[in-house]
Amino acid sequence: MTQKIAFIGLGVMGFPMAGHLAKAGYQVTVYNRTMSKAKAWCAEYQGSYSETPAEAAKQADIVCCCVGNDDDLRQVTLGEQGAFAAMKPGAIFVDHTTTSAQVASELAQQAEHKQIVFFDAPVSGGQAGAENGQLTIMVGGAEQQFTEILPLLNCYARFVKLMGGIGSGQLTKMVNQICIAGVVQGLAEGMHFARSAELDVAAVIEVISKGAAQSWQMENRYQTMLAGEYNHGFAVDWMRKDLGIVLDEARRNQSHLPVTALVDQFYSEVQAMGGSRWDTSSLFAVLESKRKAT
Ligand code: NAP
Repeated sequence: MTQKIAFIGLGVMGFPMAGHLAKAGYQVTVYNRTMSKAKAWCAEYQGSYSETPAEAAKQADIVCCCVGNDDDLRQVTLGEQGAFAAMKPGAIFVDHTTTSAQVASELAQQAEHKQIVFFDAPVSGGQAGAENGQLTIMVGGAEQQFTEILPLLNCYARFVKLMGGIGSGQLTKMVNQICIAGVVQGLAEGMHFARSAELDVAAVIEVISKGAAQSWQMENRYQTMLAGEYNHGFAVDWMRKDLGIVLDEARRNQSHLPVTALVDQFYSEVQAMGGSRWDTSSLFAVLESKRKAT
């Protein structure tokens, strides 16, 4: 494949995503702030690394990015060694970071001045989805160039959808996080109650997962929650970042999200318990710790 791709940010998600592109035959140049990860990536996949985002981006037809938050994204795009200044006119920047819709609009405007096309394209599906190439990608941006990035996105996605203009990918991801927050808290409370009632929790889940209470969280997380294992999946620190973005946006668009706001507070209790890097199902640990305390 002749298209040149740069991939910025080789974290839990970016590392395998960039790997899928190399395996598909794209010419991939990676950049990671911590250089050792870029070197490790090049040892595992066919491709090269650069020492700055600008260097990685300057020859690229498409630049993909998956860093932490709004500020990180601003740094790798507009910072001193940022990608935007180096990208060629007509090149495309696809951002997979979960950010605010505001930063997507801000960067799309900056990109337009430089004749770069910007897409916000946050992902869902977690580490396993990234590794197995089974992510869901919600995209905001121009319909015309969407067809140009679709073959690339399909290398690591099982479903990709253009949601509308710039920012609509991030707004869709916010809906995703709102839905997850309520479902996980509901599951945690149900399991906590079942234990208090001295029911066999596994048997309860076996029955109710066949009915209307079934969910992905119930199918995939109940056993690890029961075992008190939270060292996998999407970290609480990231979830709090995402819920912060959601609640800011809700203030702007005047949505009422009482449960989401409450669950955000429960996640702050997980952090206070030392669970910043635990996964989102650790809401159960908060409830269980309260029972133990009484
Ligand atoms: P991660 O493992 O912490 O990786 C973050 C990446 O961003 C690392 O490569 C890090 O570089 C880089 N980075 C952070 N700040 C930077 C800066 N200022 N300049 C340059 N590079 C910077 O995070 P992740 O789990 O891959 O998540 C990445 C994004 O995807 C986040 O927005 C997250 O919310 C979203 N997401 C994650 C999941 C998940 O399950 N993990 C699922 C869906 C969406 P270093 O290596 O130098 O630290």
